[in-house]
Amino acid sequence: MNKTELLGRWTKEKSEELYGIKNWGAGYFSISDKGEVMVNPYMKNKESDTSLMDIISGIRERGLDMPVLLRFENLLDAQISFLNESFNNAIKTLNYQGFYRGVYPIKVNQQQQVIEEVTKFGQRYHHGLEVGSKPELIAALSLLKDKEACLICNGYKDEEFIDLCLYAVKMGFNCFFVIEIPGELDLLLARSEALGIKPNIGIRIKLSAKAGGHWTDSGGDRSIFGLNVSQVITMVDKLKECNMLDSLKLMHYHLGSQIPNIRDIRSAVLEATRVYAELVKEGAPMGYLDLGGGLAVDYDGSNTNYTNSRNYSVEEYCTDIVEAVMSILDPSEIPHPVIVTESGRTTVAYYSVLLFNVLDVEKLEEYEIPESLKDETPEQIKNLFEVYKSLTLKNIQECYNDALYYRDQIREMFKHGSITLRERSFSEKIFWSLISKISKEKQKLKNPPPDLEDLESAIADIYYCNFSVFQSIPDSWAIDQLFPIMPLHRLTELPKRNAIIADITCDCDGKIDRFIDLHDVRNTLPLHDVKNGDDYYLGVFLVGAYQETLGDLHNLFGDTNVVSVRIYPDGDYDFVKEIHGDSVADVLSYVEFDPKDMIERFRETAEAAIREGLIDPTDRREIMKAYDTGLRGYTYYER
Ligand SMILES: *Cc1c(COP(=O)(O)O)cnc(C)c1O
Repeated sequence: MNKTELLGRWTKEKSEELYGIKNWGAGYFSISDKGEVMVNPYMKNKESDTSLMDIISGIRERGLDMPVLLRFENLLDAQISFLNESFNNAIKTLNYQGFYRGVYPIKVNQQQQVIEEVTKFGQRYHHGLEVGSKPELIAALSLLKDKEACLICNGYKDEEFIDLCLYAVKMGFNCFFVIEIPGELDLLLARSEALGIKPNIGIRIKLSAKAGGHWTDSGGDRSIFGLNVSQVITMVDKLKECNMLDSLKLMHYHLGSQIPNIRDIRSAVLEATRVYAELVKEGAPMGYLDLGGGLAVDYDGSNTNYTNSRNYSVEEYCTDIVEAVMSILDPSEIPHPVIVTESGRTTVAYYSVLLFNVLDVEKLEEYEIPESLKDETPEQIKNLFEVYKSLTLKNIQECYNDALYYRDQIREMFKHGSITLRERSFSEKIFWSLISKISKEKQKLKNPPPDLEDLESAIADIYYCNFSVFQSIPDSWAIDQLFPIMPLHRLTELPKRNAIIADITCDCDGKIDRFIDLHDVRNTLPLHDVKNGDDYYLGVFLVGAYQETLGDLHNLFGDTNVVSVRIYPDGDYDFVKEIHGDSVADVLSYVEFDPKDMIERFRETAEAAIREGLIDPTDRREIMKAYDTGLRGYTYYER
C-alpha cells in the first residue's frame, strides 16, 4: 500500500489535483462525481456539464473507431468571446479611446470548419483573419463576409497574391497589405497603379526586444521577416516620394508564439508603440497597431514563465497592452489606434481533444526471488543476489551502482558463452526486482541521489495506445511540448500504475514520457490498472493549435476521425459534424500508390499462387476480400 491508499479513499478531488485539470482546464474541463471528465463551455453553469465518456459512447454507437479528434464548437466561440471581452474590459476600464479588432491567423489551424466557425462566431466582435500565403488568402476570401473585420495579409507575396489583396480592398474588405521585406514595396506600387486600386499598407517591423520560449525565433534583430529601423525610414521616404504615405495605416510585429513571460510582452509593446508614434510624426495616417501573436496557453497549469506555461492571465495580457500603448502615446497626444492581435494559439488550443483507447499494457513483472541460491549458480549472479538481499535505505546508491555493475558483467559473460540463456534470464529477474525495490525505498528519501531520479520511467508500465504521436501531436515529438494527458474515467479510483505512453507507430520516438507537473516535468503518468479486454480511454487536451496540419504520415498512419459536437446550456449536445479519417487507400495514394492498380497487381500474385497450387480459387476470393477490406479500412487499430 502506498501513502495515498493509507490516507483513505481516492476521490475525484485527488484526481483533480493529480492531473491538474483545474489549473490547465481554464474552467472548461472538470471531473464529475462519477469520476468522468466533463466539458462545459458555459463555465459556471453546472447544468451544461457533459461527460466525454458519454460522447465516446455516442461516437462508438455511430460506428466510428478511436482515435478520434473531438472538437467542441462552443469552446472556439467561448475563447473568441473571452479574448474580445477581456480587451473590451481593459479598454473601458483604462478609458482607451480606440478599440480592439482581433484576427485569427489561419496557419494555427487551417481546417475549413475552424475558419468557418471563427468567422461565424467572431462576427459579433468583427473578429477577422490573418493570412500568410496565397492559399490562406484564398481560403479567407471564401469565408469572410464581415467588411468591418480586418483581413491582414502577411507573408512573402507574388503578383497574384498582391492582386488578390488589392481586389479585396476594392470589394470593401478592411484588407491590409503588410510589407515583410523591403523588396515587396515596388511590386505593390506597380500593381496598385496598374489596377488603379489604392492599398492599405502595413509595415512589419523587427524589434530589438526578444522573448524567451520555444517558439520565439521570429522576434529579435535576426528574425527573417520584418524591416529594421533604417529600412523603415527608407520605406517612409519612398512612400513620400510617390505620394503614397497616406496609404500607410498599420504597423505590425510578431515576436513569436507562446511567450511565457509578461515582461517580454510588455517591453515589445512599449518598443513597438514608440515606432508607431514616430510613424505618425512622419505624417503617416496609421490608425492600426497590430501586435501579432504570442499570447500563451498554460498547458501545464503552473502559471509560471516556464515554456509550456505563462505567468499572466488573458485579462492581464489585455490590460498590460492597453496600458503600455497609452503610456507611450498619451505624452505626445497621439490618437489611440485600433489594437489588433493575431492570437491563434489561445483561440483554438482548447477546442480539440484527442481521444484514444489503450490497446495493451506491458508491466515489469513481479518475480518470485528465492530465499537462497543453488551452489552451482555463477558467482556474478550470486553477487547480484547478495546486493538484492542487502538493500537498505542507507546503502541505496551503492546497491544501485553494484546492480548495474553485476548486470553488465553477467551480460558480458553471456556474450562469451560462459552462462546460459536460462541463467541470464534469472539474473535479469533479480536485477529488475532489485531496481523496483530501490525505486520503492527511494520514495522515503527527502533528497534522493540524482542518479536515481529517472528510475520511475525505467520501471514504468508501457501503455500501448491507439494513436500516432507524429500524426496527432507532432509538437510533442518535434519540440518536446507538453500537453495535459489524463484518463477520461475511473477518476474516483486510485491510479495504481505509473506509466509511459507508446503509440502504435513502432518508432522508438513514438512515445510520451514527459508529462505536465506543477513544479517540474513528470517522467511517468499515474494510470489505472487495465485488465485484458477493459475499455480504458485517455485524452490529450489542448491540441487545437498547430497540431493538425503539422502532423505527418509516419508509418502511414493517416488523419484520425474527427467529430464535432455542440453543447447546449442544458447539457444536451449534437454531433454537428463527422469527418472520417484517412483510409489505408487514402494514405497510400498520398505516397503515389494507385489503389486500383494495387488490387490488380495483388490479384495477379494471387492468381499465380493458384497456378502453383498454393491456394484454390475460393481461397483467392477470401484473400482478395481481405485485401480490399484492408484498403478501405481505417489506418489505426480497429475493433
Ligand atoms: C504564427 C503567427 C501568429 C500566431 O501566433 P500565436 O502565438 O499562435 O497566437 C500570429 N502572427 C503571425 C505573423 C504568425 O506567424
